This record gives sequence, structure tokens and C-alpha cells, in this order.
Amino acid sequence: MKSIRSKLLLRVAVLLFILFLVNQILEYKSFREVNINHVKNQSSVIAEIVRDSLTTLMEIGKIDKRDLFLSNIKLEHRNIEEIRVIRGDKVVQQYGEGSENEKPKTEAELKVLQTGIPYEKLEETFDKVSYVLILPYKAEPINRINCLKCHNVEAGAVLGAIYIKTDLTPVRSFTFANLIQTTFMSMFIFLMTTFVILRFFQPYTEFFSRLKRGLSKAKDGDFSERVFINTNDEAKEVADTYNETMDKLCNTLTAIENRVSYLIGGNINKSSNALKDTYMIVEELVKIYNFKKIVEKDASKEDIYLRLRKLMKDMNIQQYSIYEVDTENNKLIDIDEETKWCKDVVFLDADQCRVKRTGSEVVSEEYACVCPNFIKCENGEAEEFFTCIPIYVGGRVGIILQLIYDKESRVNIKNKLPFIEAYLREVAPVIEAKSYMEKLRKQSLVDQLTGLYNRRFLEELIPKLSQQTIRRKSTIGILMVDVDFFKQVNDQYGHDVGDTVLKRVADILNKSVREADIVVRYGGEEFIVLLVDVEKGKSVEIAEKIRKKVENMVIHTDGVTLKKTVSIGVSEFPHDSDRFWQCIKFADIALYRAKETGRNKVVRFEKSMWEREEY
Ligand code: GH3
Ligand code: MG
Ligand code: MG
Repeated sequence: MKSIRSKLLLRVAVLLFILFLVNQILEYKSFREVNINHVKNQSSVIAEIVRDSLTTLMEIGKIDKRDLFLSNIKLEHRNIEEIRVIRGDKVVQQYGEGSENEKPKTEAELKVLQTGIPYEKLEETFDKVSYVLILPYKAEPINRINCLKCHNVEAGAVLGAIYIKTDLTPVRSFTFANLIQTTFMSMFIFLMTTFVILRFFQPYTEFFSRLKRGLSKAKDGDFSERVFINTNDEAKEVADTYNETMDKLCNTLTAIENRVSYLIGGNINKSSNALKDTYMIVEELVKIYNFKKIVEKDASKEDIYLRLRKLMKDMNIQQYSIYEVDTENNKLIDIDEETKWCKDVVFLDADQCRVKRTGSEVVSEEYACVCPNFIKCENGEAEEFFTCIPIYVGGRVGIILQLIYDKESRVNIKNKLPFIEAYLREVAPVIEAKSYMEKLRKQSLVDQLTGLYNRRFLEELIPKLSQQTIRRKSTIGILMVDVDFFKQVNDQYGHDVGDTVLKRVADILNKSVREADIVVRYGGEEFIVLLVDVEKGKSVEIAEKIRKKVENMVIHTDGVTLKKTVSIGVSEFPHDSDRFWQCIKFADIALYRAKETGRNKVVRFEKSMWEREEY
């Protein structure tokens, strides 16, 4: 694309050139015409003088001096190359042929003598220009000269002619010299014009190129360019408006950025495109806001962990781990168990985790092994890097998000970090609330004295558990355990001893069954043990094992030593009934039978024990 300046220069140059050409042509033409006219007039005047002079010479009888006269004229007028007087037929007849010079030499001369019509011609060759004029002398009484006085001819007859050849070569040379002079003058004017245009347009061209640069930068979101012009015209107005607009844009974007930095709580990594940055930041803020809204509605902590995983996926972070701090047991729990990025010790002792211990973010930025328990850390070197961010729950580090990345992704992660931290800050109070709620819920489902699940837990569990068992075509053994003559303990030794007995029995129950089995304090001194996925018919054996363990248990408390026994009623779901609660009732019936038939025994429910159809 051509600049305005070069466009203008081109146009002015073309115009000046046309002007120059027209001027040169016109000048040449007018010069030529003026000179030819001048020579024509000169020749006519000389022709007349010659005629008059010849007449006079004839009258005074000195006609023989005519050649001298003519050569004098030639001497007078240096541009006259040749001048001759030619005798016509009539004069030859009257006065004889005359000298050689007076005879007609060319066709043109003969024609003038014959017709009496003047002849003129411009003879031009490369190195010479001449003007030839042949004028007839006619026998006419002109003024005081009467030719007919001496010549025996009729009026109007051609007596002779005069031939004058004038040299115009110096005139042509002069014209050319003149043209060269004007060419130089024109070139000088052209250069001056160019100079003036350039000088005049200098500030405008600079202004336009800066404006162009500024606008193209602005298109890419960089509003730093300003334009200046030292004129007092429209260009100055444009420059001022442009600068004002850019200032406003910069101020607005900086204000947005500062507020966002405040919201995010960190400095945002900026690119050269402020518009794109602002758009990205606002979009990220909206995402954070929406994230919080969604998380608030999540039912459990596990749902929130799922959201965090989704967030990591959206942020294109492939390697990460979420750890939960188990404050009761002071150990770390890895939520995503598949990949562990920390050495085993942190899962046994939470204080081995640097984030948990220091309560602040740990980044392996400069020193790869800043946390020696990073699994990749070997001999103080690590190929991969990590950033561990704490999430505070109840004033303590409750959750840790660990990001793992290689050297190439370092910058990328660093840029994303303020946003990730912002997400986590938003999530933390929600996680905290959910944690408390979970704790409360857990407490409401657990019996305070024995630490076993309570009846409410059982009620919540049964619908799900029974469905699963039926689907898996499995069996659940139900043991209804009741301490024999427990009331006596209370009566004899007081409630504290009674409580100790209950705790010891609960302990035996817990230790006698598998981890997956569920032990519930059903009421007072009654317990239910659910043997999950038990082999059909095997429940009685386990019940017997429990009975024996209790029988062999010796309790020493408050200076009292005592032994207790239990009676156990057994049923199996879904073999005894496909309704869980009915099976519990059947176990209770069996227990009742055990009590009836002497206590400290296990009784398997049988259909004969229950006559009624419905429970
Ligand atoms: P049986 O062999 O027929 O089961 O006789 P029992 O005395 O064990 O039966 P009973 O149901 O008559 O007595 C249960 C007693 O358990 C009554 C109640 O005072 C006591 N009890 C219930 N809950 C607690 C408790 O939390 N702590 C203590 N110490 N006693 C409790
Ligand atoms: Mg009892
Ligand atoms: Mg009882």
C-alpha cells in the first residue's frame, strides 16, 4: 500500500511533467513562429528596398552597380545567406540576359516568374535551417515608382523576382539552448515542489504511521501506543481523541485487572493483549462464581472432590492428587488412591507432610526436593515438580491439592495457580460446612458409650443393604445379642460397672467379626450384628464363637471382678424372609427362645417358632 505522501508526490510529478512538456512545446512553437515571421518581414522589407533601389539605380543610370549594392545588403544583414535578383523574360528581351546570377536556377524561381505568385519555404536539415523567399517584381505603378516608364511591358507583367535565403540555424540553436535552460528551471521547480511537499507532509506522515501502528496494536489488545502531531488542525484533533480513547481504555482495563487481582488474591499473568486478558479473567471469574454456586448445592464432600477433579480436567491438569487430613488419627488420606505422589510415611503421620505441618503452600520451584517425602525425590533431585495447596477446614489444614508437572508445564501451571487458588478459596468454606455436617451426621448415627452404630444408622442402612444383598444373591447373618441378667449388674455394682460391661461386650463383638460386618447397639444391652456376605448357615458358628468369647471374658473394674454371658438369636436374610425387618424379628424370637431355654446359648430361628403369617 502506498502512503499518501508518495501518492501525492506521484500526482504532482505527473502534473509537473505534463506542464513542462506543454510549456516546452509551446515555447518551441512560439519561438519558431516569431523568428520565421521576423525573417519573413525582414525578407519582404529587403525585397522592397532592393526593388526601390534598383529602380533608383536605373533612373540615375547606375544599374551596373547592382551587384555591389546586393553584396552590401548581405554584409548589413549577416543572417542573409544568399540574395539574388532574377531577370524575367520581358526584361531579358529588352535589356539582354545579364549576369549568370540573374538567370533563374530552380523550378521554384521559374514558377514565380511565370505565375507572379510569391514562393516561400523553410528548408530544415539536421544541422541547418534556412528560409527561402522568392518574390516577383511586377510592372505596376507603385507610389512614385512607375516601372512602365523604363520597361516596355503591359501593366502587371512579371519583370523579375528577388531570391532571399536567410540562415535560421543560429536561431534554432538559440531556441534549443533556451529549451535546455527551461528544462533545468523546470527540474529545479520540481525538486523544490517535492521538497516543499515532503517538508509539509513530514509531520502528517509520521502521525499517520504512528496512528496506523497504534491502531494495529490496539487490534491485538495493546493500547500503549500514543500519537503526537505538532500542528493546529484536524490531525491534532484526531491525535487528541485517539490518545484520550486509549487512556480511557487503559484505565478501565487496569481498574478491572486490579479488582480482579484483589478478588483472585494474586497477580495475574499478563500477555500483551489486554483485551484478551480481561476477557479471559472475567470468564474465569464467572466460572469461579458458578463453581461456588454448584458446590454449595453438592450433597457431600465426595461430590466436591468430584467437582475438583472436573476442574483439574477443565484446566488441563493431568497429574494431581487430593489428600484429606484425618485429624483424629493424624494421617493423610489419599482421595484418589490409584496414584500416590507422596511417600508412605505421610499417610501414617500427617506431620510428615510439609503443607500440613507449615500450613502454607509448598512449591518445588527452586529446590526440587523442598519436601523430601515427594515420591520422585531421590538424592535431593527430582525430575518432576509439585505445588501443594492447603485448604483450611476449621482453622486447620483439612485438604491438600497437589499438582504434579514437568519442566515444560511449569510456566503454564504458574499462570493457572492464582485461579486454582481462587477456586479453592471459594470451595474451602463449603467443604468446611460439609465436613461439620458429616461429623454431626456421623455422631448422630453412632452410640456414644460403645462407639458402635446406633439403631438410626441401622434404619438408614437396611433399605440399601437388603437390595444389594438380594442383587448379589448373597446372605446376611443377623445375630440378636442380649446380655444375660444384665439388670443385676446395675443393681449390684451400679451403672458405671454396667457401662463397662456394655463396652467390653461391644468390644468383643467388634473384634469377632470382619471389617465389612456391621455391629449395632440396638438398645440397652441388646446388640445386632449383621454378618455381610456370610456363607449360608454359617451365622450360628460365628454366634457361638462370640458367645464363648463373652463367656470366657473376665471383667475387672472398680475393684469388682465379674463374668457375664450372652444369649444370641440367629436368622439369615433373605433365606428366612425376603423382608429384612422380619428377619430381625425372627432373630429376636430366637433370642427369646434362648432366654426361655436357659440363656448363655445360641438359638437358630426356625419357622416353627413363628406361627403367624405376618410380622
Ligand atoms: P435378661 O437375661 O432377661 O435379658 O435379663 P436382663 O436383666 O438383662 O434384662 P432386662 O431387660 O430386664 O434389663 C435390662 C437392663 O439394662 C435395664 C436397664 O437398666 C439396663 N440398661 C439399659 N441401658 C443401659 C445402659 O446404657 N447402661 C447401663 N448401665 N444399664 C443399662
Ligand atoms: Mg438382658
Ligand atoms: Mg434386654
